Amino acid sequence: MSTRRDDRRPGAPVRGAGANEASPLDAALPRQPPFVLRARILTPLAAGGVRHERDGVVAVDAGGRIQTVESWEAWSSSQAEPSVAGSRGAFVGRVVDLRPWVVLPGLVDLHVHLPQVPSAGLGAGLDLLIWLERYVFPLERAFDEPTAERLAPQVFRAMARAGTTTAVIYGAIWQPSLEAVFRAAEAHGIRAVIGKVMMDELTYDERLAPERILEVSLRQSAELCERWHMRDAGRLRYAFTPRFAVSCSAEMLRQSAALARETGAYWQTHLSEDRGEMEVVARRFPHARDYLDVYDRAGALGERTILAHAVHLSERELARVVDSGSRIAHCPASNLFLASGVMPLARYLERGAAVALGSDVAGGPDLSMIAQMRVGAYAQSALRTVGGDPHPVLGPLDWWRLATLEGARALGWDAGIGSLEPGKEADLICIDPAWTAPLPGLDTDDPAELMSRLIFRHHPEMVRGAWVRGRWLPRGEEAWSEQGGLVTG
Ligand SMILES: [Zn+2]
Repeated sequence: MSTRRDDRRPGAPVRGAGANEASPLDAALPRQPPFVLRARILTPLAAGGVRHERDGVVAVDAGGRIQTVESWEAWSSSQAEPSVAGSRGAFVGRVVDLRPWVVLPGLVDLHVHLPQVPSAGLGAGLDLLIWLERYVFPLERAFDEPTAERLAPQVFRAMARAGTTTAVIYGAIWQPSLEAVFRAAEAHGIRAVIGKVMMDELTYDERLAPERILEVSLRQSAELCERWHMRDAGRLRYAFTPRFAVSCSAEMLRQSAALARETGAYWQTHLSEDRGEMEVVARRFPHARDYLDVYDRAGALGERTILAHAVHLSERELARVVDSGSRIAHCPASNLFLASGVMPLARYLERGAAVALGSDVAGGPDLSMIAQMRVGAYAQSALRTVGGDPHPVLGPLDWWRLATLEGARALGWDAGIGSLEPGKEADLICIDPAWTAPLPGLDTDDPAELMSRLIFRHHPEMVRGAWVRGRWLPRGEEAWSEQGGLVTG
């Protein structure tokens, strides 16, 4: 490993190793496109591998798309030559020098429960079904429209601070609260797939007669989809969201899947998270071959289906997941927090399963996708050393790929986001790696070593900015006004 003092900015504050002062670069970060970021660039590539520019450029055009990603040297010389600049359009926009910060694609959280965020970090080690009763249902029951209006903007700011630019979200069962969550996402600027939780068994809605729940839940979900799916040129999307087979009838699963197919929206649920849950499902659906078959019989599997957890799949189930093109949201921190188990990630990937990462807050304690990478890496190491799994563990660059490009691919969104490549939408984050240095001033030139530091020495303050379509995601006191300006309130 090469280490050296970072001496290109003699006047810059030296952070890491516990220091916490703000940097002058924070104030320089652009709020709206067009702009050019000069920084260290690291991104997975759609064609495989990574692109690493020690001194690189990401240029974002006025429409919020990535115009170019290249070395500073190549970019600056092309700007100086009118013929070259003219052939690709001379860049009009502010150049912001962020060195030695790193610019990366925004992180994708494939599975998170917004109403549960207030209980994040509570209930470690509890059985899933007990944890739901004790911590989750009381919060979701209380998640009415005013609560959503207060909480959702805070959650989106917290996601921006964590570097999450795309989130796939479960709400509660109340339609007005989902309207408020969508409005908050629209105003904030985050990219989001959101769904109203559906459950016609074990529901916490005591106001509805049981025989009306199915019809009301389907109608309200369809209305939300109609109003919000593909809002803002597709930045906001809808997911029909039956909670899981424990709390949904076969009819609810079937009809919600049919609605997802008709509308082109997503369909998301939980699968094989915990042994106790699996036993309940086996009792409730005695004619199903296994847990996955409950969803298969409902016609719910496919490329727009996101199955959270899938910790304990049989060989048959895994083959059917792959065959159907269904997506798995792997939530390693949640699976250890609630003592559910360790998903054999490498085996699933070897079989060709489409897997990306989810925080599953509040089953998982942390909104940060980088925390998911770290816990996931430790869990896979344990599976190999203690569990006897023969598969090699993933490297740091593989984990970053899972939380960016593979997240986008799981959503069928990889032509638009997930990596820093020309023509894609500019969903970016910037990280100050000094927060992760073991001693002040230590740096590494190797991209895998950089990623390793960011994962295993992750610091909550290290993500300094996040953008969707080149537009700043508010993370503190600031917010976008309806007139399109950023105001501090
Ligand atoms: Zn979940």
